[in-house]
Amino acid sequence: MRRDTDAQVIVIGAGPVGQSAALLLARWGIQVLVLDQRPGRGRGGSKSICQQRDVLDIWAAAGAGKIAEEGLAWTTARTYYRDRELSSWSFERDGTLPACVNISQSRTEQILDEAIAGQPLIEVRWDHEVTGLTQDSSGVSVRCGQRVLRAPYVLACAGARAQGLRSAAGVSFSGESFDDQFLICDVKTELPGWEDERRFYFDPVWNPGRQVLIHPCPGGMYRIDWQIAPDFIPTKDDIARKIRKIIGDRPYELIWHSTYRFHARLASRMRAGRMLLAGDCAHLLAPFGARGLNSGVADAENAAWKL
Ligand SMILES: Cc1cc2nc3c(=O)[nH]c(=O)nc-3n(C[C@H](O)[C@H](O)[C@H](O)COP(=O)(O)OP(=O)(O)OC[C@H]3O[C@@H](n4cnc5c(N)ncnc54)[C@H](O)[C@@H]3O)c2cc1C
Repeated sequence: MRRDTDAQVIVIGAGPVGQSAALLLARWGIQVLVLDQRPGRGRGGSKSICQQRDVLDIWAAAGAGKIAEEGLAWTTARTYYRDRELSSWSFERDGTLPACVNISQSRTEQILDEAIAGQPLIEVRWDHEVTGLTQDSSGVSVRCGQRVLRAPYVLACAGARAQGLRSAAGVSFSGESFDDQFLICDVKTELPGWEDERRFYFDPVWNPGRQVLIHPCPGGMYRIDWQIAPDFIPTKDDIARKIRKIIGDRPYELIWHSTYRFHARLASRMRAGRMLLAGDCAHLLAPFGARGLNSGVADAENAAWKL
């Protein structure tokens, strides 16, 4: 067994919450080691797109101001029942940062990686799955295969599936998972008049009895999110038909697609001795309302100054 780090905090997980936490800890002069089980950063799709002003502000302070600069600051939200507009509201542009911007999670992670690369207090080790944790009065021992790494504190940002880590710290993760299923696509196309509007449709003719959410993103991209039947497995042709119903004959390119379901779960504690939890590792929220990553960055900011 070898112990080979001088880090004061080990962050488990190099997702956007772990990245944010590492940058914020380094800002306090703390040496950080980030461990992630993956071989490296994947390409991914849009996933979390809508980031709110206070989070943009935290990222700017941590050296990732490009997220706000590159994000698309949409101005108007419209809600429809079938083809009838029920309501609309617009953001006041009164601050230095927009109220929120749309930017793909994969681009956000790239920008955070760039900031981390310029921060000498942060070391990132990929291919390091944490398989066990023990703690005593002076620190936490983190097992990665044959290796044990030790630091005074651990910040677990290991996402929703980190059941093993939560259990090792005696933290439960109760709540609900829902059957409703959603299909999300990143579609590159031109939709004149829709470039800075978020549109929410209930029971539209192109998705009867269900809903559709459309968000504009940078680079002429639209994120389209359909509610679909719980057991429906959409094929490429199904997806093409769904897109055509909305955009008509316009040329388009499907950049990425995925399906997801809603979960509402909460960790029984955000701190277990010398281990703190942040992000999806601590709470899972429905994506509608854009609270997942936004809440995770707030956790990271709070944990960083406390540590
Ligand atoms: C369709 C969809 C839309 C969304 N839209 C929004 C939105 O608009 N706004 C918003 O704020 N949020 C949104 N979210 C939520 C957002 O995507 C998540 O909240 C965010 O990804 C959580 O980041 P995280 O770093 O906590 O976890 P993750 O991104 O899951 O990262 C966890 C990391 O930990 C690593 N890991 C796990 N276990 C271990 C281990 N044992 N050892 C080492 N490494 C480990 C994983 O490899 C991974 O890299 C959306 C989510 C979905 C699905």
